[in-house]
Amino acid sequence: MTIHVIGAGVTGLSFAKACSEEVNILEACENVGGKALSYKVETKVGTFGFDIGGHWFHYKSTPAVLDILEGLELQAHTRNAFVYLHEHFFKFPIQQSYIGHPDKKFVNDVKQELQSVNNFQEYNNYEEMLLQSYGLTLYESFFKDYNSKMYGIYDLSAIGVGKFETIRNVRTHRNITGYNGDFLYPKGDIGASGIPFFLADNLKINYKKKVKSINIKNKTMVINNERVSWDTIVSTIPLNSLIGIISDVDDPVLELSKQLKSSRGMILNLGVKKTHLQGDMSWVYFPDPNLHFYRVGFYSNVESSLAPVGYCSMYVECSPLFFSNKEEALANIPTVIKELIEIGFIRSADEIVTTKAFYLAQNYCLPDTSKTKVIHHYLENAGIYSIGRYGSWHWSSQHEDMQQAWDLANKLALRDLTKAKKFPQALVTKAF
Ligand SMILES: Cc1cc2nc3c(=O)[nH]c(=O)nc-3n(C[C@H](O)[C@H](O)[C@H](O)COP(=O)(O)OP(=O)(O)OC[C@H]3O[C@@H](n4cnc5c(N)ncnc54)[C@H](O)[C@@H]3O)c2cc1C
Repeated sequence: MTIHVIGAGVTGLSFAKACSEEVNILEACENVGGKALSYKVETKVGTFGFDIGGHWFHYKSTPAVLDILEGLELQAHTRNAFVYLHEHFFKFPIQQSYIGHPDKKFVNDVKQELQSVNNFQEYNNYEEMLLQSYGLTLYESFFKDYNSKMYGIYDLSAIGVGKFETIRNVRTHRNITGYNGDFLYPKGDIGASGIPFFLADNLKINYKKKVKSINIKNKTMVINNERVSWDTIVSTIPLNSLIGIISDVDDPVLELSKQLKSSRGMILNLGVKKTHLQGDMSWVYFPDPNLHFYRVGFYSNVESSLAPVGYCSMYVECSPLFFSNKEEALANIPTVIKELIEIGFIRSADEIVTTKAFYLAQNYCLPDTSKTKVIHHYLENAGIYSIGRYGSWHWSSQHEDMQQAWDLANKLALRDLTKAKKFPQALVTKAF
């Protein structure tokens, strides 16, 4: 049985790595990595290194994936993150550092509300989870605006809650530092792409092979202009794009996929002169609804070789609340820079050495399990497994994508095809 893997990002590569037999990896681009991409810029002051936004390897919830990366030099780091609230920097997470807020009423309100929160409830939606986890005062001063800016949506009750969203947001008592308190990052100046490069080693990858359409009934697909047959597909492309290229997809499934929502995004990478304020911050959260970004981070504060001495390579995650397409996003850049100067992360525009912006048509998928369950069930009955952050349509990070890929490889290797034909339902539930 030939397994076709669509996409050579972290998920597709991890799946291929986990398989005992060779799989056919189809990658539309000329390189591996997908969103976990790094690049360098040579300037007159030296070389800067960048990723596409912070790509820190948070492994806590799935430590076993470190086995897949054995042999890669990863450096451990401790988060030094802040929240910029009411013109003060508070250590992140705010639910632990609010005590230092100058407004005593604010402190008392948050204290009382945190004492009565319940972390162990079932939540109907994202807004409910945040409110019940942190109380009204922190919700209104930080979580509401920050998450709206990040997801690009004002009504947070319209966002579902899957297991990954819960892991990321509930961190008051037991799991004190949260999922990203410690993280790993490839050693040296290779950047986040060190991970996909390592995974790709010894794998045969078919570059510039774009899957253009898939037919379920005939079990054929078109790669560039060539039609080939398939038994099993593991896809890592966005779930709605996958459904969109299935030529004979059932109408109700197509309709459901059209209702899936995701946020847009823009990452602005800057190489700038180091300022006192940047210090050794890892990243900073910005809930202020007037600021055009929701998070700013510093690659070279984590890995110093990513900027020349006296300089800093940084990323700015711009809020999709301020744009609805690429042109509008790019038009915001002067405002973003002005705001960064006002805060003090850059002294003046002429201290910016290099600038590059990446528009992301899909950044965060807004989870909606009532729809994605049905779509995945349909696909798996046809022999198509859609995995990874975009393939699953949830908010996972690299380590969780790797774990999911690894688990699927193990399940498929155990799969008995004769039984699968007889009991397709059981196979679907067992597959994840
Ligand atoms: C701004 C940003 C910040 C992030 N920060 C972090 C972080 O700090 N830590 C972390 O762990 N994770 C982070 N992530 C998440 C991380 O990037 C993803 O979890 C991971 O990269 C997903 O990998 P993937 O292989 O599933 O998908 P992708 O990386 O999207 O890979 C999919 C691949 O499929 C290829 N492809 C698409 N269409 C076709 C086609 N038709 N035919 C063939 N190939 C095709 C693409 O070219 C791509 O290579 C971040 C993501 C973003 C966007």
